[in-house]
Amino acid sequence: MSIQTINTLPTPEQIKTEYPVTTQIAHIKATRDAIIRDIITGASDKFLVIIGPCSADNEDAVCDYINRLVRIQDDIADKVLIVPRIYTNKPRTTGEGYKGIVHQPDPEKRPDLLQGLIAVRKIHMRAIAESGLTAADEMLYPENWSYLDDLLSYVAIGARSVENQQHRLVVSGMDIPAGMKNPTSGDLSVMLNSVVAAQGVHHFIYRNSEARSTGNELAHTILRGAVDPLGNSIPNYHYEDLSRLFELYSKRDLKNPAAIIDANHSNSNKQYAQQIRIVKEVLHSRNLSPDIKSLVKGVMIESYIESGAQAIGPDSIYGKSITDPCLGWNDTRDLLYTIADAIK
Ligand code: PEP
Ligand code: MN
Repeated sequence: MSIQTINTLPTPEQIKTEYPVTTQIAHIKATRDAIIRDIITGASDKFLVIIGPCSADNEDAVCDYINRLVRIQDDIADKVLIVPRIYTNKPRTTGEGYKGIVHQPDPEKRPDLLQGLIAVRKIHMRAIAESGLTAADEMLYPENWSYLDDLLSYVAIGARSVENQQHRLVVSGMDIPAGMKNPTSGDLSVMLNSVVAAQGVHHFIYRNSEARSTGNELAHTILRGAVDPLGNSIPNYHYEDLSRLFELYSKRDLKNPAAIIDANHSNSNKQYAQQIRIVKEVLHSRNLSPDIKSLVKGVMIESYIESGAQAIGPDSIYGKSITDPCLGWNDTRDLLYTIADAIK
């Protein structure tokens, strides 16, 4: 056999029994889920800011970063809801490189999926307990959703996964908002088709069971820019792109039309500092057009303690990304206050 089984991993039930949510965490999640739901449905006009490092590579640095966010969240709570990014599993363009703490709890050591599953649960639980903020994660592996379904407040389906049927079907069984990204090609119909699928009712195989979902009416879109056949980035955050998405939504019968604009990735061409200008432009477009304002419910920003990115190694700098380059802390703080000021 070409796939060799190394370990039998604990089931989600077993890990949850060993690392159970506290009543404090359950309460925080219920409260925040209700607020985020209201933003996606339009019942609340708060603006969602999903922000944090590209990958959650180090529990101490990520929790330190999120604890800094809390102070700002308190100041801008009347206008902005911050959802930290704790991204524990990373899609890789060529399959090579760091795949997240689920694979490597220590980025400098060999993969250890058992310790990885535990590390993922621990980092999310610690962040909530310390900061009171529940987080967003990417669902790269649908079968791993059940390890985190009692902790997350937001899930993203990445540009490389959004066309995959199992991702769409598992999202249809979630009771939290799931952002479906445009694929790297930039095809908006693929993204909207994924929202149709995620909002639908389905019958499928999930973790060795025959399963049925109820449909996720909070599934929505994320614009992250595209890559053309020559490898050039094509942004899709401009006024015209947002208007086009509004038009496309109005031709479809989808619940809760909503879009989040990812300011990094192919929108910034990974020029991380451009995220500041991109977010400001999105807020300006919202303020110019009631249609865009009703559609664009938030932004996604890649940010950490130190700006930029670094290679993995023994001399690595605390709080600096080892995957996509991020805004540093001072720019992040200033941008969050700028966002709050620009929300009308
Ligand atoms: C990310 O959010 O870090 C990411 C990998 O995004 P995308 O799927 O848009 O490339
Ligand atoms: Mn990234």
